[in-house]
Amino acid sequence: MANTIGIIGGGLAGLTLAALLGEAGFDVTCIDAEALSTSASAGYDVRTTAISYGSRQVMEDAGVWQSLAGNREAIKTIDILDGDSKHVLNFDSKEIDAEAFGWIVDNADLRRALVARVQSLKTVRHLTGVKVRDVTFTDTHARIILDSGKNIDVGLVIGADGRKSILRDVMRIGTWGRDYKQTAIVCLVVHEKPHHGMAVEHFMAEGPFALLPFTDLPDGTHRSALVWTVHGGDARPWIDCDEDIFNAALNERSAGRYGTMRVAGKRGAFPLSLAKSYAYTAPRAVLVAEAAHGIHPTAGQGLNMSLRDIAALADILREHKGSDIGDRAVLKQFQSERRMDNLSMAFATDGLTMLFSNDFIPVSLLRKAGLHMVSRLSFAKRFFMEQAMGLGAFKKAADISGKRRPSRAARQR
Ligand SMILES: Cc1cc2nc3c(=O)[nH]c(=O)nc-3n(C[C@H](O)[C@H](O)[C@H](O)COP(=O)(O)OP(=O)(O)OC[C@H]3O[C@@H](n4cnc5c(N)ncnc54)[C@H](O)[C@@H]3O)c2cc1C
Repeated sequence: MANTIGIIGGGLAGLTLAALLGEAGFDVTCIDAEALSTSASAGYDVRTTAISYGSRQVMEDAGVWQSLAGNREAIKTIDILDGDSKHVLNFDSKEIDAEAFGWIVDNADLRRALVARVQSLKTVRHLTGVKVRDVTFTDTHARIILDSGKNIDVGLVIGADGRKSILRDVMRIGTWGRDYKQTAIVCLVVHEKPHHGMAVEHFMAEGPFALLPFTDLPDGTHRSALVWTVHGGDARPWIDCDEDIFNAALNERSAGRYGTMRVAGKRGAFPLSLAKSYAYTAPRAVLVAEAAHGIHPTAGQGLNMSLRDIAALADILREHKGSDIGDRAVLKQFQSERRMDNLSMAFATDGLTMLFSNDFIPVSLLRKAGLHMVSRLSFAKRFFMEQAMGLGAFKKAADISGKRRPSRAARQR
């Protein structure tokens, strides 16, 4: 029982954690409410994710990075534009001697690779189409109660069950945050000219319009991933409208940057909010990823911060393998290690979102001046580039040129 772990939630976070813990020799059961036939179907998740340098290392450790070769595109430069301002803030990974800030991967490809990895590990049981109804606790174990009425007893239960986490409710942990009353419209787009590895974030009055570099199709067609944020919780008109209408709006906003552009495939809509849980742990239970914190996608950091949770928790559990991993003191180490990074990322993305959603003239002038200043101050530019690479959280010990996630011991120094 001591080394048995139940993970509720088999999304990108839960699957990555299952792979890391299974690889470390723990006896893991990963339970997901969604049937595999649904989560593996085309159009289930039309998003792409910007995987930072730090997260790539977690993906390598989880044994999936190699299988994504050919399905990922490097982000080499980032252009930030504000309204119709002439100042463009440009970040180039060459300035910090890095090959890329990160990579864009298709969520469906990533999930497929993770499922294959988890199912190849003898130490992991992957249950899909199975919903957790409740969790109860004793001094020695947690009992996971499934909808079917069956129980699974484990030494530690981990909630990777997303924003509406049942484990968080069972632990009686509340959340704070806000509804941004914005919706992100996402899809892949094809265009005439190559993107040359450039990510573009254009802060417009209606919300940020981001084009992220994606892989070319085998016939050479150029592709990017669109994340277009609009005000209001209902983006249905943009999802349901005729492709010609959508393409016209797309081309108006992209302003010919890559020539004519058109939508390729299904469009998805995601209402945006900030939700941060007050605590992450209780005896025999711990929350990770979106069960613990959900943020605005403006900086593409949600999964990246979740992967830092996952790497930290896996490190701590490995260190205590053989002893009681559900012990409150062990889990508290995780909470104290992760709390500040998660809190500062939540505040940073919230601040950015509020700053760039504000058209009050003094605020917009201040914002433009700020962008101009960052573009001229090399230390400020470097700071933002390190954040984009996902190494900022480990800044004290990070060796950017070495490009390795520092060890836990180094992170604590
Ligand atoms: C538009 C958009 C763009 C984004 N872009 C980026 C980006 O570029 N970079 C980045 O780092 N992040 C990005 N993010 C954030 C990232 O997509 C999320 O953080 C990530 O997908 C959440 O993964 P998760 O596994 O924590 O949660 P989820 O994907 O919500 O998974 C939770 C899982 O738990 C299961 N579950 C729930 N309840 C139960 C239950 N009772 N029993 C069993 N199973 C249960 C569900 O079936 C689900 O599979 C973006 C988000 C959005 C909305």
